This record gives sequence, structure tokens and C-alpha cells, in this order.
Amino acid sequence: MPQIDDKLAPIYEEVVRRNAGEPEFHQAVREVLESLGRVVAKRPDYLEDALIERICEPERQIIFRVPWTDDKGRVQINRGFRVQFNSAMGPYKGGLRFHPSVNVGIIKFLGFEQIFKNALTGLPIGGGKGGSDFDPKGRSDGEIMRFCQSFMTELYRHLGEYTDVPAGDIGVGAREIGYLFGQYKRLTNRYEAGVLTGKGLFYGGSLARTEATGYGNTYFTRAMLQTGGTDFDGKRVVVSGSGNVAIYTIEKVESYGGKVVACSDSSGYIVDENGIDLDLLKEIKEVRRGRIGEYARLKGEGAYFVKSGEGSIWDVACDVAMPSATQNELTGKDAKKLVANGVIAVGEGANMPSTPEAIRTFQQAGVKFGPGKAANAGGVATSALEMQQNASRDRWTFEQTEARLATIMRDIHDSCYETAEEFGAPGDYVIGANIAGFIRVAEPMRAFGVI
Ligand code: NDP
Repeated sequence: MPQIDDKLAPIYEEVVRRNAGEPEFHQAVREVLESLGRVVAKRPDYLEDALIERICEPERQIIFRVPWTDDKGRVQINRGFRVQFNSAMGPYKGGLRFHPSVNVGIIKFLGFEQIFKNALTGLPIGGGKGGSDFDPKGRSDGEIMRFCQSFMTELYRHLGEYTDVPAGDIGVGAREIGYLFGQYKRLTNRYEAGVLTGKGLFYGGSLARTEATGYGNTYFTRAMLQTGGTDFDGKRVVVSGSGNVAIYTIEKVESYGGKVVACSDSSGYIVDENGIDLDLLKEIKEVRRGRIGEYARLKGEGAYFVKSGEGSIWDVACDVAMPSATQNELTGKDAKKLVANGVIAVGEGANMPSTPEAIRTFQQAGVKFGPGKAANAGGVATSALEMQQNASRDRWTFEQTEARLATIMRDIHDSCYETAEEFGAPGDYVIGANIAGFIRVAEPMRAFGVI
């Protein structure tokens, strides 16, 4: 296992002690601290004034009760979270996740990752994350609306276009953002378009935001492939998940001539040797909000479904793997299988989908590995572009926005690549992303003094 530098080890031990029972948060902090040994060796001044300790401690954590009434008239209680992690670069920025697995440790890991990701975009946004243990599956539109209204009735007092700007994440798409924005507008009596991103196109949303994370990961992964003199054309690709990130990853990969042969949801995965039929997938997932098994039933010939627990999507042989569902979905065992099957690149669409053992396996095998905090930054970058459009009362075309996104992703790739070289770890995008993101946040923090 990579080691944490002796000077940084006590910081990690303290994080574990003060945040007991939050393994995902420990994992995210550990990965960053493992990279920072190279920085403090060159620049010991970063150890001063507990700068790194302060980065590991959220500026503010808000936990609240969310009561709402279901369709049968029963009162339900969920828990809401917002972790405002770091505002050195700008207002807190990061999505809201509605999923039964959400707890404060999950939100803290996501918020911590978000700090460095947002810094990598080069745009003025700090890091935050929020959500609830509410499970939207099987809930009616009315129930979703009442939940979102209750959630915002507490959260609104902590938000603002200059303070904290949430967006979507797992379980929070355009429908939920609409209900949340409506309630914010009602409570504040202000049309503050820049307070949420991922809005609908009729009321301040940005073209290309829906596509941005999946497209962005595809640009990033393509840039990694190009450093090895190759491209997506003719490659077999596996994309896990079938939500927002996965669908638009599949779309972009297919446009570059890649063949996506498998995708999934929590009920299992499907394989289609002819390449995923995107129209059918969108119809099932975006329109009917159905389960992935329906794809195999409707597609017939060449497609099959494997139930969750009866196999792993990473057993499907591919050249490029793009995990786009959730954290720790790709284990060391999965990585070994992918390597044995000849994978050459992995681009993380989800946040922290590969376990530390999986990352090690890829790197030791010489597989190009793009960590989520760099590879999936296209979503938040385009959210920042949505804020720009809102602030200037303007609206850009799809082409204009996508062109900005493509440039941003290229810059993120290059900055990770160059930083890894500068710090003696050529080709290691994990080290490149962690160090480049850290330096951008550390400098303004130091300028502000001890706050
Ligand atoms: P969606 O809710 O649109 O889709 C999530 C997909 O992942 C669904 O197919 C879902 O299946 C599957 N999934 C979620 N949890 C699990 C689980 N525990 N086990 C198996 N499958 C699961 O979310 P997004 O596509 O927006 O987000 C996917 C990932 O990308 C997350 O890690 C998110 O943090 C990250 N991300 C998203 C960004 C965005 O702009 N949306 C930006 C940057 C990162 P099911 O429907 O069955 O639950």
C-alpha cells in the first residue's frame, strides 16, 4: 500500500480519530495525503499554520430533519445534510445526493473530493456536498415534490449565489432541481437563478449541463488514450451505471467510434455485443424510469441481462472501463479481471468508484487511470458556466458551452499530466490531480490567514 509521508501521518491519524465510523471519508483523505508527501518535501512551508489540517476539516456541517407526508397520508422522516467544506476558491459548490446509503461520512468524502475537483477546473468555486437518506425509488411525483419542498425549507437559509450553490447528483436530476428551485424562490421572494445549477432550460439552465459529466469524462479519457498514441475508435468500452453520467458517456464514446458493450444499474448489468442502443436506453431510463433488465427483454438478439449478485459488470472484457455508478463499485478483484482481459485505460465518471486496491492494480499494470476528481470535473465546470450565464443574464449556445467544456477538460488533463511529471511521478494522474488541486486551494488559504 502507498505510504503516507511521516510528516503527514499524524494528520491522517487525527482525521480518523475525529471522524470515527466514516470509512469513505478516511479513504478520500488518505489518497490525497499519500500524494502530498512529494509536495511537502519540496515545499515544507505548506506544513505551516496547520494548513493541511484545516483543509481536512469542513468549514461548516449542517444536519437537519426533513419531515414530509407520503401519498397515503403518513408522515415520513428523513435526514438532510450539507457539508460546506472549503470556500477558499469561491462559494461552496457541489451536488445533492438522494440515496438511502447517504450519511454524514459519505457527504464528507464527496465534499472533500469536490474541493480539489473544483480547483482543477480553474473556475472560482469552493467545495461542498449535500443530500439525504431519502430513497426516491418508487415514489410518486407528488411525494418527490413534497420531500424537495421540505428539504429546501430548512436548507434555503444556508444557500445563496455568493454563499453555497448546490446541483444534482445520484437521485437528483432536473425534476428535483425544479422543485428545489421553486421552493427557494418562494421562500426568499427572489429570482436568484445562480443559487442552483442543473436547472431546466426554460428557467436559467445551461445547454450541455446534462451531458457535461459524461462528455467531460470521455474527453479526459480520450486525452489519456492519445498520450499513448491511440483513441476510442474501434475500442470495446464498458460503462457502469445507466444514470446521467453513464448515458452521456455512452453517447460521446459512440460518437468517437467506440463500442459500448455493457452498462448497469443496482439490479444488475446488461451486455449488448452489437453496441448499446442509446435511444432504447434513454427511453427506459430517462422517460420510463425503468430497470436495466428491460433493455435485454426489448432488444432481444445479442443482448442479455445478469442479475446483481450473479456476476460483475467488470467481468465483461473491454479496452476501456468507465465506472459511472457509485463509490467503491470496482474492487481489486474486478481490476485484476479487467487487467487480465487487456484493459488499457480507466476513466472514472463516478466519485471514487475504484477501491485503493483497484487503483494500485491498474497503475502497477501500466493502465492509464483517470481519477474521478479530474475525469468527472466536466459536470461541475459546466455548472460554473451556468452560473456565469445567470450572472450575466445571458444564454450560450450548445456549441459554445461544449467548446468551453472541451477546453477545460483538456486543460485539466494537461495540468494533471504536467504536475505528475514535475513531482517525479510521470503518467500518474492520481498524484497529478491531487497535487495540482491542492496547490490551487492552499495558496488562497494562506493569503487569507488563519481562518
Ligand atoms: P444517477 O442517479 O443519474 O445514476 C446513478 C446510476 O448508478 C444509476 O444507474 C444507479 O442505479 C447506479 N447506482 C447508484 N448507486 C448504486 C449502488 N449503490 N449500486 C449499484 N448501482 C448504483 O446519478 P449520476 O449519474 O448523476 O451519478 C453517478 C456518479 O457520478 C456518482 O458517483 C456521482 O457522484 C458522480 N458524479 C455525477 C455528476 C453529475 O453531474 N451528475 C458530476 C460528477 C460526478 P439505480 O438506479 O438502480 O440506483
